[in-house]
Amino acid sequence: MLSTIHTVDCIEVITRLRKLGISSYDIGSVLATSIAQRLVRRICKDCCEERPFTDQEKETFERIGKRYDVQYDLEGKHTFKPVGCEKCNNTGFRGRIAANEILSVNDEIKDLIISEGSITDIRAAAHANEYRPLLCDAFTKVLEGHTVISEVRKKLAF
Ligand SMILES: [Zn+2]
Repeated sequence: MLSTIHTVDCIEVITRLRKLGISSYDIGSVLATSIAQRLVRRICKDCCEERPFTDQEKETFERIGKRYDVQYDLEGKHTFKPVGCEKCNNTGFRGRIAANEILSVNDEIKDLIISEGSITDIRAAAHANEYRPLLCDAFTKVLEGHTVISEVRKKLAF
């Protein structure tokens, strides 16, 4: 079964389900995967201006990368300055792209949920199981040139 629930990220789904009165046993035995997404605006390719990443932006990549164990390779990469044109209604952005995160409930996480483990412990186990927060994917989207850091900051407040 597929369902949607409003929470800040895919791990908080467990908290939300617990608060709804669903037993930890039921959550642990039924929840298979939890996916979260946040939409960020896509840069308008018709008017944007290519520019190099600033030192501050490079530091941000490094900080986020270190915090979440992600390797961002900025070598030869650039970003864009939103400008604005007729096609994007002078906003500099056109369309949206989703930043995603996925929690795959493996046996360890399942046991943690059933034994009333804290969200902090579940988060640590998820991290060991290759879970990476939305923010990491959003930064990948910046590196791929789909969006820009200022937009990610606005939508994901980091
Ligand atoms: Zn434009």
